[in-house]
Amino acid sequence: MKFVALSYDDATLADERLIALLNQYGMKATLHLNAGLYRALHPFKNGSQLRLPLNVMRNLYKQHEVAAHGFTHPDLTGLTREQIDAELNQDITLLNRDFKQRTIGFAYPYGTYTPRVVDRVKASGLLYARTIKNTHRFTLPKNPLRLHPTCHDNDPMFPALIEKFLALQESEDALFIIWGHSYEFDVEQRWGSFEENLKRLSRKKGIHYGTLSQALKAFKII
Ligand SMILES: [Zn+2]
Repeated sequence: MKFVALSYDDATLADERLIALLNQYGMKATLHLNAGLYRALHPFKNGSQLRLPLNVMRNLYKQHEVAAHGFTHPDLTGLTREQIDAELNQDITLLNRDFKQRTIGFAYPYGTYTPRVVDRVKASGLLYARTIKNTHRFTLPKNPLRLHPTCHDNDPMFPALIEKFLALQESEDALFIIWGHSYEFDVEQRWGSFEENLKRLSRKKGIHYGTLSQALKAFKII
């Protein structure tokens, strides 16, 4: 089975344009949210990005998956065990309540983790956790709590990886995970090139398109 899954972090305003594009091309994404920052300004290294309000997100993400990303987007590796648990559990509890779901997915804030962090993610009941370690491969993950993506959407290799993926036999197991932040399309003026890549990858016979949890379930990894 060939499966494409997209994974986008932080739920900022540009998600409205991103989700409209994904819906247009029949693609699905997992959105990683910080429930403690829904309506707040969150300082990023490259400036502040305004978060979407809950009522907008509820409607916007309906065909997609909402997953956790830490209550306040901390670097979990610098926190105590109690602080890590609080960041995970507060995020999960609010997401469950606000989106009427059981949250099973996670993305490590800043992509950072240690064995201790992975242990706490597992203890929180989350079933998978995406990293930012780009593999440039489509091989199935060995450990869903260290779910490495294939590439970031600004990777110069992205178009070549699409061609490589399209050329694979339908009988092969291949998982293509693309990740990023929607606001980067605004900042880097990349909406056009991203849409070209989506167009090339979308609506192909023999390829499944879904969220991270749908992909991992389809391959019986979770
Ligand atoms: Zn983030």
